[in-house]
Amino acid sequence: MIYDAVIIGGGVVGTAIAWQLARYDISILLVERESDFCEGTSKANSGIVHSGYDPIPGSLKAKMNIRGNQMIRELRDVLDYDFVQNGAMVLAFSKDELVQLETLRRQGIENGVPGIEVLDRDEILRREPNLSKDVLSALFFPTSGIICPFSLTYAFWENAHANNAEARLGCDVKNIEKNGDIFILTTSAGVVEARTVINAAGVYADLINNMLSPRKITITPRRGEYVLLDKTERGFVKSTIFQMPTAAGKGVLVTPTAHGNILVGPDSVDIADKECTATDSEGLDYVMRSARKSAPEVNFRKIITSFSGLRAHPEGGDFIIDMPLPGFFNAAGIESPGLTSSPAIGEMVSEMVSDYLKAKKKSRYIEERKGIVKSALLPPAERARLIDSDSRYGNIICRCEEISEGEIVEAIRRGATTLDGVKRRVRAGMGRCQGGFCTPRVMEILSRELHVPMESIRKNNRGSEVLV
Ligand SMILES: Cc1cc2nc3c(=O)[nH]c(=O)nc-3n(C[C@H](O)[C@H](O)[C@H](O)COP(=O)(O)OP(=O)(O)OC[C@H]3O[C@@H](n4cnc5c(N)ncnc54)[C@H](O)[C@@H]3O)c2cc1C
Repeated sequence: MIYDAVIIGGGVVGTAIAWQLARYDISILLVERESDFCEGTSKANSGIVHSGYDPIPGSLKAKMNIRGNQMIRELRDVLDYDFVQNGAMVLAFSKDELVQLETLRRQGIENGVPGIEVLDRDEILRREPNLSKDVLSALFFPTSGIICPFSLTYAFWENAHANNAEARLGCDVKNIEKNGDIFILTTSAGVVEARTVINAAGVYADLINNMLSPRKITITPRRGEYVLLDKTERGFVKSTIFQMPTAAGKGVLVTPTAHGNILVGPDSVDIADKECTATDSEGLDYVMRSARKSAPEVNFRKIITSFSGLRAHPEGGDFIIDMPLPGFFNAAGIESPGLTSSPAIGEMVSEMVSDYLKAKKKSRYIEERKGIVKSALLPPAERARLIDSDSRYGNIICRCEEISEGEIVEAIRRGATTLDGVKRRVRAGMGRCQGGFCTPRVMEILSRELHVPMESIRKNNRGSEVLV
């Protein structure tokens, strides 16, 4: 079969493109080299839906950020992802930073960020009593929010799939050639043919582009490290707290997550290895030291895990969304604010692809997608009714996050085949003990539901089997 569109990459950008393209009456295949969606940068970032004050006015980043922020706020009830509009503050600590704050305010207005407020020291400390008393002033951006990046990626994919998009996981694209009007993709899972190819391969988007495009690009992995604090710290800050942005990025933040933890990070270091998501003491010390400038009392004894993610930094600094040769499209160099921008990138790329294919919209399209029920968050009577209808919702498997067997079975029904796949869909293993208690129990459920032996259950990709 020759697909109308093949998307390379199952991160938040590739799935957002699939979600928007699935509105058209065309055949779509998403290929992802890992064993699940959201295994690249989309799984390790700050999870902020940025308001849009930071990108250079007129850039693609600025346009995509503003539109993406608006779409994420509007689509929450349609696609049912975990998003809280908590607002963000940028703090100024010196006279120089007061000048920069005003520049940032003007830039925000020029970019079209709505509702920017200027706060004085008293108002800042009234809203956020745990911030440093040294703060002089701040900007508040009410449209900023916090999102679970996994839930957004799965929401895009599940809706695309409901509208007939297909996916091939464990399918690594090794080479692309063009024969007449048809692209021939050589992959680890056989040959795939397509009328159009969309490159959403994250830090590998340069390799994919350079297989075909006359214009070569370079993507540098820019690593950012984080520490995540226990939910005992819930409420330490309510909004997302930024320091002044620099050339290296938006700086170290202290923020609640969409699920009530406190997240601190990231740093920003260019590295050579596109796979190196390690953390080290130097990076984590820097992150913790920097965060204390904003919030001196942040309790680092409550760290439950640390992690890092790789920004796909392009040479020119702006997103690369183009068609360098007929039928081949790039969504490359999608560093921050790529998570925020993802629905807007999906919208823009799908318009470019559908124009090229002269595709028509489907007459029957499913707009809505429902997420997996969160039994612990239901009102008691509703939770009791759910357990009456299916007793597995009364069997708690992950004690930290109160995740039931019913939710884990539903995650597997929706495509989870690994421990991480379950964790990212329903949070079993995300809590204080980081899976110390529930891992063997989730493995038993995976083994039972997938009819495979326990020895073949993996943490994520090939080679990460837990038992020998
Ligand atoms: C430290 C950090 C903090 C960030 N914070 C924010 C934030 O707060 N807000 C925000 O808006 N953005 C943020 N971002 C940016 C955001 O995370 C990214 O822009 C976004 O996740 C990029 O998504 P993607 O789909 O392009 O890439 P990815 O998620 O990396 O997906 C690319 C996929 O392509 C697959 N792939 C690669 N090569 C091949 C191949 N040959 N064949 C098949 N598949 C292939 C990979 O396996 C991967 O799954 C942050 C990024 C980092 C690193």
